[in-house]
Amino acid sequence: MVKKDNKKDKESKYAYKKKSAWEILAKDQIKKAFDFCEGYKKFLDAAKTEREAIQQINEIAKKGKKKIKVNKEKEAAIIIPGKKKISEGLRIIISHIDAPRLDLKQIPLYEDSSSNVALLETHYYGGIKKFHWVTIPLALHGVVVKKDGKKVTFTLGENESDPIFAVPDLLPHLSYKVQAIKKLEDAITGESLDVMVGSQPVKGEFSDKIKTAILDELHKNYGITEEDFISAELEVVPAYKARDMGFDRSLIGAYGQDDRACAYTSLKAIMDLKNPDHTAISLYVDKEEVGSEGNTTAQVTTFLRSIIKELDPKADVDSVMLKSKVVSADVNSAVTPNYTDVFELKNASTLGNGIVMSKFSGHGGKYSANDASAEYVSEIRTMLNKEKIPWQTAELGKVDTGGGGTVAKYFSRLGMEVIDLGPAVMSMHSPFEVTSKVDIYSSYLAYKTFLKN
Ligand code: MN
Ligand code: MN
Repeated sequence: MVKKDNKKDKESKYAYKKKSAWEILAKDQIKKAFDFCEGYKKFLDAAKTEREAIQQINEIAKKGKKKIKVNKEKEAAIIIPGKKKISEGLRIIISHIDAPRLDLKQIPLYEDSSSNVALLETHYYGGIKKFHWVTIPLALHGVVVKKDGKKVTFTLGENESDPIFAVPDLLPHLSYKVQAIKKLEDAITGESLDVMVGSQPVKGEFSDKIKTAILDELHKNYGITEEDFISAELEVVPAYKARDMGFDRSLIGAYGQDDRACAYTSLKAIMDLKNPDHTAISLYVDKEEVGSEGNTTAQVTTFLRSIIKELDPKADVDSVMLKSKVVSADVNSAVTPNYTDVFELKNASTLGNGIVMSKFSGHGGKYSANDASAEYVSEIRTMLNKEKIPWQTAELGKVDTGGGGTVAKYFSRLGMEVIDLGPAVMSMHSPFEVTSKVDIYSSYLAYKTFLKN
């Protein structure tokens, strides 16, 4: 016999409950989400560096006949004029197009005579866990600017017929003293992340015969000399492609989803936007992963100011910014199985629950972050609910466990309303980050709705 207790059977209708995107989205919408992610995976494969991302965004914008401005190959803005005047403010979505990786040093190439191989010295970029980067297939992307100013573009390791590269690691049999008993973060050092690039020497009785052979090869294939590396930006990134994950293909595993998930979804959102009320801008910035310093970043708003001035030469730029509303489109950390202790689960994001709204980020007592106003949060959640777009709210981990920031604060400093909105990512900052297809699609829907109003 089942004991009946009517009172307890009924949940209060005033309770908040996080909902699953799989429940909210209709069957045809889920189909659309899966189709949408086919384009997303292609974008991730074609945009493994900040320059490649801007190039992809530029090509897609031009193909769709949208107005785009590019700053120094590393920052871009797509602009759709609205029905209202510029003086009534803008709707802006900002995402970043850089991702953690290994950069080559300026004098990278050397031969290690003890191991009989040639390697490239690297200097890691952004917040990585160094042990992630050993013994995985790597590709070399970037530009070399020669002394005459001519630019050589590299994408080596992406085609099946290309060679790939790798950072060697020690066998377990000999790792005990130098790695196993150390703290995880000390076991692999930054200086040990050198990439193996060859082993065949030229013939002759002199030193550095492998390095010599590689320099000859580089000159033959690319016309570059060793000094040309000094004026190069070469980045070592995972050589594999974005893939469906899981028996049900519900997830995407790929490098660089922080924050190209937001770059792609905001790109698609603005490409599909028609007749917005306010002028809509999607802005793509560089160097977020190292603190947004530099002339193509969120901290330097000269680019955005010049766009506003160009849209309306009479505009009072400060007053336009005061009236503007911004979405800082960046990812949040998905609750990770086996490590759930670092999350406060009521206020954490999970895969498959839609786009994540973060009222604030930062660390400790909410230091160094934008904290969106209750009024703005209300506006955004009402907008998402009205359109039945799956969303959830979260902060990054338990209080005092760690923290992180986004570009949100740099735009709120200008007087704009800003909120963080983006999909949850599992294994964030690893060479193989994981997202949910319904979250990617929810992000696209959310950004499109935001830009429309
Ligand atoms: Mn990010
Ligand atoms: Mn990041």
